[in-house]
Amino acid sequence: MRPTKLNPLFADITRLKGVGPKVAALMSKVAGPRIVDLLFTPPSGLIDRSHRPKISEAQPGSLATMLVSVDHHEPPPAKRRPYKVICSDETGFIELIFFHARTDYLLRALPEGEKRIISGRVEEFNGGRQMTHPDHIVKPDGTGTDGNETGSLPLYEPIYPLTAGLSGAVMRKGVHQTLQHLPDLAEWQDKAWLSKQAWPSWQEALKLIHFPDGEASLNLLNPARSRLAYDEFLANQLALALIRRNNKKLRGEAFKGDGDLCARALKALPFSLTKSQESALGEIFEDMALPERMIRLLQGDVGSGKTVIALMALLKCVEAGAQGVLMAPTEILARQHLESLEPLCMDLGVSIDMLTGRDKGRQRVEKLERLAKGEIQILLGTHAVFQEGVEFARLGLVIVDEQHRFGVHQRMALTQKGAHPDMLVMTATPIPRTLALTAYGDMDVSIIAEKPPGRKPVSTIALPVERIDDVIAAAARAIEKGEQIYWVCPLVEDSEVLPLTSAQDRFETLQSHFGNRAGLIHGKMAAQEKDEIMQSFHAGALSILIATTVIEVGVNAPNATVMVIEHAERFGLAQLHQLRGRVGRGDKPASCLLLYKGPLGEVATARLKILRESEDGFRLAEEDLRLRGAGDVLGTAQSGISTFQLGDVTVHSDLLIAAKDDAKLILAQDPGLTSPRGMALKTLLYLFGRDEAAKLIRAG
Ligand code: ADP
Ligand code: MG
Repeated sequence: MRPTKLNPLFADITRLKGVGPKVAALMSKVAGPRIVDLLFTPPSGLIDRSHRPKISEAQPGSLATMLVSVDHHEPPPAKRRPYKVICSDETGFIELIFFHARTDYLLRALPEGEKRIISGRVEEFNGGRQMTHPDHIVKPDGTGTDGNETGSLPLYEPIYPLTAGLSGAVMRKGVHQTLQHLPDLAEWQDKAWLSKQAWPSWQEALKLIHFPDGEASLNLLNPARSRLAYDEFLANQLALALIRRNNKKLRGEAFKGDGDLCARALKALPFSLTKSQESALGEIFEDMALPERMIRLLQGDVGSGKTVIALMALLKCVEAGAQGVLMAPTEILARQHLESLEPLCMDLGVSIDMLTGRDKGRQRVEKLERLAKGEIQILLGTHAVFQEGVEFARLGLVIVDEQHRFGVHQRMALTQKGAHPDMLVMTATPIPRTLALTAYGDMDVSIIAEKPPGRKPVSTIALPVERIDDVIAAAARAIEKGEQIYWVCPLVEDSEVLPLTSAQDRFETLQSHFGNRAGLIHGKMAAQEKDEIMQSFHAGALSILIATTVIEVGVNAPNATVMVIEHAERFGLAQLHQLRGRVGRGDKPASCLLLYKGPLGEVATARLKILRESEDGFRLAEEDLRLRGAGDVLGTAQSGISTFQLGDVTVHSDLLIAAKDDAKLILAQDPGLTSPRGMALKTLLYLFGRDEAAKLIRAG
């Protein structure tokens, strides 16, 4: 259970003064619903009130803080006109403008004949200076003028992420109040490491972040921010280390087998494995032969040949008398796997079948029976393979294909289903090392670093969309040669917000050129319809397939030689690379045409340039991370992989790596986290919401 000391931090933000349900809803949008969420929202900018000009020196448009005399009030002469307060110093006059003003407030805040410090944006009006709704009005000694104004005028004010309806001042007041809720927590960092880094305590660090005293306070590499980043990374890495330890501890089965099926399968393949494939397979077999559970990630760029590895692992499992499952993210992919694996399995006398959400009624019941009796040895399918009622006779191996949406939490959920099969996760998203640490830190990793021999490079060209006629002509030439084309558009329907060509529109244009050789596929179609279109493209009945990104993942059409991507400037680097990987899988030269709508921004220009220069998924992933930030690279929204609030993996990557080592050391020295530091670390886990992992400690 969460230590009670943390409870104030996990209370609802409506506990804060000035945060009612309405404001709370807005704050939840930018930070989160709990006090700790606000506390862990660092400022994104700074208002500098250190600029103290005289009135005549204040530049229109600039933010100025000035000592002025309040000369006289000018109530509005008519409704809808503003209330004015005329102020001056020895160099000139400035009018303070208030709309919908409360007169009593203004009379109290700005008494005629007194001096006040005002701070806000200076404007020019009819040659004179004015300031509309000053941000601050305080007495010359810096104290407030009103019951609401507390404390003195800050020289620097943090700017927090905002949303429509949420003002900077309200957000600031909310965040600053959270600092009053800081519990007194024992230090969880190693003392020697702290002093070596010259980092402040946790409480102090938070205060430094939220009360910036200049630009340096915003620097992600300053001691306070680095410390907080490290806290967050350590919680993350410790949690993953605990999950990993727990996974390992659950006894799996030792799958050895006699090697016969695997040997026969290898012989039947039309190619021999690459060195990379062999070593990855070696690691997998080694894991499978151990009595502990395998939890392994197989990472390999598109087209590097992961499927055959999956097949071999499944066959190894069958050899040992158990069943294996290969789970794909879409039905199309599951079917494609079935098509490519079935003939070989038939030759080997291994029974293989597929289960998807589309199996209903009798058919489904029958399949489930055969599965429960062990008559199906290899099962392919979608998420449906883990639905209620799906029972295996002896499940030995689960392979998850092309699935970066299958995150730590899903893996844990699967483990908690009771059975403890070996697990292999295959991904074509070559994620940078630092991200791999956080996204896959609970797994061992095998990498397929080389591609099968004989692959031709895909020539990549970026063209402004105005050259579309040339592209259509090139498509026509390819079709004449009997080749196939993917044509990818970002959206399905015309959107009123984004002036993009929709797949539907483009389909109609291309249909006028290519008639019934053109097909359309998009995410809003029913699964069956998508399947049929994909099948006819696969079978060659269609020559040009207009698609949204549904084709992104894994589909194999060796005859496809041209990939056209419209509005390439809107896609991320990794996604463009994945799309490009759909072509150039056969022996013919292939090309990728990136159509963009100019003018291109800096990031988009950089992205298209890198893509033209490199086909190395790992290099592209590193660049992508640099250009976009972690959340986007991992596709956080679907992955359930947490990104960090305080740490930034691009800036603090060395800290992340240090946290990984630290976590390992901690668990080696104090497996049950029972030492004083261990107990503090337990609190750290809860502080960062790693409750699931913290619960695994006792088992340690
Ligand atoms: P991915 O890793 O993207 O899933 P696939 O497993 O679909 O890649 O393999 C891509 C293509 O490469 C397939 O047509 C497959 O038969 C072929 N392939 C795989 N391994 C080799 C190899 N060692 N030599 C030649 N071709 C191979
Ligand atoms: Mg694949």
